[in-house]
Amino acid sequence: MRSFARPIIAVSACLEFEACRYNALSVACPLVRDLMPFVDFRPACPEKAIGLGVPRDPIRLVRDGDAVALYQPATGRDVTALMDDFTQRHLATLRDADGFILKGRSPSCGIKDVKVYPDRDPAKTPITGKAAGLYGGAVIAAFPGRAIEDEGRLENFTIREHFLTRIFALAEFRGVYASGSMARLVQFQADNKLLLMAYNQTEMRALGRITANPGGRPWRETIDEYETHLRAALSRVPRFQSNINVLQHAMGYFSEGMSASEKRFLLGEFETYRAGKIPLSAVTGIIRALIARFGSDYLSRQTYFAPYPTELVSITDSGKGRGA
Ligand code: SF4
Repeated sequence: MRSFARPIIAVSACLEFEACRYNALSVACPLVRDLMPFVDFRPACPEKAIGLGVPRDPIRLVRDGDAVALYQPATGRDVTALMDDFTQRHLATLRDADGFILKGRSPSCGIKDVKVYPDRDPAKTPITGKAAGLYGGAVIAAFPGRAIEDEGRLENFTIREHFLTRIFALAEFRGVYASGSMARLVQFQADNKLLLMAYNQTEMRALGRITANPGGRPWRETIDEYETHLRAALSRVPRFQSNINVLQHAMGYFSEGMSASEKRFLLGEFETYRAGKIPLSAVTGIIRALIARFGSDYLSRQTYFAPYPTELVSITDSGKGRGA
């Protein structure tokens, strides 16, 4: 059983933490609830923080030349400057965040697809387009390479697995960074070899070269370059075939001890995974059972087979596609 570093996650406060929505309600988010024992949450409600009160009249994004403004039709207040000011100050306190879970479709917290109205006239209701909310958009701009999602997207199991994998890997790396220990970096690279192989082989090789540090560069230079490449490596959902390649590679460690029918079963499970009928965690669970049965120090240390706590494994899915 591996231990896990605790990710730092900034979260929209209305997701389970506070009844701070415009209508004085909160929003149920099973993932946030499930994560509570395993992560350090930093909840914040931008609209409450800028003094709009709870309950409050709703605000919306309105077109303002090339930009968008945050506007409260019932009062005629433009709160764009207030929100920008809060965002600058608040994001400066979140430099160590490994990820963000933000409320989708909110004109403040939304990270995409928030309705934009044509102008400030409350009678004009047809929307003219979609954009990120003011706070959510600023998070995306300020934190490239961090895991940033909204609660709706996280109902998709592929997106959720990707998010969970990233936040626990980035939290572990934060500890390596703070340690100043080259030995810990070498161990981190070794333990994440298969995970990186699945995510991005080009970046995996680059990270291997950086870790080898043939020129004997100073720690700070080495670790900063490693961080840039690690964030790039983990930025995209791995392709199904990349995961299957890693699973086949792992299967090779045990093929001599497995019966023909066991091999057929496992290869069949790979195909079921490829067809999108079971999540990756279902297949890696079988490999973990093989590791327990046959033993392999190398594989048992690989984060790939337990990228996040098993208590968080859930096959529920929104049914809205594999990895949009
Ligand atoms: S979406 Fe953001 S601004 Fe709106 S209630 Fe939730 S935390 Fe507050």
